[in-house]
Amino acid sequence: MSEFAQEVIEQIKKYCEDKIQPHIEHDDEEGIFKKEIYQGFGSLGLTGLTLPEKFGGADLDYQTFCPILAAIAGYSVSYSVTLSVSVMAQSIINEFGNEEQKQKYLPELTSGSEIAGFALSESHSGSDAAALKTTAKKVDGGYILNGSKMWITSGGIAKTYIVMARTGEKGAKGISAFIVQDKTQGFSYGKKEKKMGWKVSPTRELLFENCFIPEENLLAQEGKGFNIALAALNRGRVTIGAVALGLADKALETAIKYSLERKQFNQSIFDFQGLQFMMADCATEIEASRYLVREAAKNFDEGKINRKLAAMAKLKATDTAMKVTTDAVQILGGVGYTSEYPTERYMRDAKVLQIVEGTNQIQKVIIGRELKRENT
Ligand SMILES: Cc1cc2nc3c(=O)[nH]c(=O)nc-3n(C[C@H](O)[C@H](O)[C@H](O)COP(=O)(O)OP(=O)(O)OC[C@H]3O[C@@H](n4cnc5c(N)ncnc54)[C@H](O)[C@@H]3O)c2cc1C
Repeated sequence: MSEFAQEVIEQIKKYCEDKIQPHIEHDDEEGIFKKEIYQGFGSLGLTGLTLPEKFGGADLDYQTFCPILAAIAGYSVSYSVTLSVSVMAQSIINEFGNEEQKQKYLPELTSGSEIAGFALSESHSGSDAAALKTTAKKVDGGYILNGSKMWITSGGIAKTYIVMARTGEKGAKGISAFIVQDKTQGFSYGKKEKKMGWKVSPTRELLFENCFIPEENLLAQEGKGFNIALAALNRGRVTIGAVALGLADKALETAIKYSLERKQFNQSIFDFQGLQFMMADCATEIEASRYLVREAAKNFDEGKINRKLAAMAKLKATDTAMKVTTDAVQILGGVGYTSEYPTERYMRDAKVLQIVEGTNQIQKVIIGRELKRENT
């Protein structure tokens, strides 16, 4: 990691210690998202980190962004994913939008004053996202959207959403991507999900009922929506890997610290080889994940599209986060299961990392497909 990135991470940790740490257990229990905390990330220059300076970003790379997401995830996975998803949506506008769209939508997102969301999933089409049913019917001057999106991260707190809807034939080629903003007539929010983890991050349904979207809100051309979504998810997978890594790091750190202090049978529990082996396995899995996430981020920075590596990074890092957080609860014993220690929250927050941005089974489907392509 560069000296610059290390300095930034120290600043972020201090910010999270001050603003997130003292309230996170309460806010997690109550499901409270504080926009001012996200806006504080903006003041630190994090909310448009990989976006061009011209639009208020910092023009930094994914090798810098990933350790930053990991550092935030050590305090709150919810705030880290809010940032990761918002930057993913911004990257779509930056990569596929025209100059006018970039000028109009990016500055308030890169500055952190507003948040962005990404809306692909629907109730009947999660993994099989190309089967989505929300329609965008061409009319004079724009499109009329009808349908709904499920499980949208930052639903209700984001101002700008990238929404995938069907403008044409069945399947991937009939899907287009639109920029939709809060308070557009015909666009409203449905139920807020009650979740196992990520409780600070709202997950909500988006509803479209005869919602008129002007044609200047179409991204790229009609029929490009699914490719846009896949390109974004490719990046999103690496950043979710980074979030998982930060969580796993923190869980192991908590387990090691506790096990060095806790005594049973007149010795610190760290010295029981049974526990040491668990921690050795966790540390090894974490380092393996770190290499994969770093390598996948480096690929993006070099302009390469490596779907296999991005899928491997997401798969490995999120499975590792699940294993390490589960083991951390075990190492802490009874208190690990209670909210006296954060390990139970870590474990709850880890689970959904194996589900979002393509479940880990879907990552294996992608890896398998690439293996076949490389060998036939
Ligand atoms: C907290 C949270 C936040 C989310 N945020 C967003 C968001 O911001 N934007 C968004 O668009 N979506 C979001 N999602 C949706 C998420 O991407 C989907 O839940 C995910 O893609 C899985 O879809 P599904 O839930 O319909 O599961 P399904 O697709 O029904 O899968 C169910 C099970 O079947 C397995 N399966 C499915 N297909 C295959 C296959 N081909 N081979 C092997 N196994 C398979 C899956 O791995 C899984 O185990 C979010 C979800 C949650 C829970």
